Amino acid sequence: MRTPAGNECPHFYGDYYRGREREECRLLPDTWSADLCATCPVPGIVRANACKDMRLDATVTRTIFNLFQRRVEVRAYCEKTNRDVAQPEIGCGECHPLPPIFEGKE
Ligand code: SF4
Repeated sequence: MRTPAGNECPHFYGDYYRGREREECRLLPDTWSADLCATCPVPGIVRANACKDMRLDATVTRTIFNLFQRRVEVRAYCEKTNRDVAQPEIGCGECHPLPPIFEGKE
């Protein structure tokens, strides 16, 4: 579903039926507000990597340079290999390994 920021996000839910204005983020059920979608990395991660074994865990943080601005911080976990995924856009490399030329092995 399309977020208030205009990006497709599988975790956003909006109910506008018959004048309703209910919106929620199912990844951040308690701390979400619509402004977070503008800078949230989740839509980009999901667009880049559709791995069905990767789980995203999000928290709302504040940067040290701007304590008034809230941001979404995302951690990714692979349920197949049982390890954290350092670069969620790329994945852990188990199912879709990069060709050796991209890893500098040739
Ligand atoms: S905060 Fe992020 S995960 Fe939640 S609905 Fe907005 S874009 Fe999606």
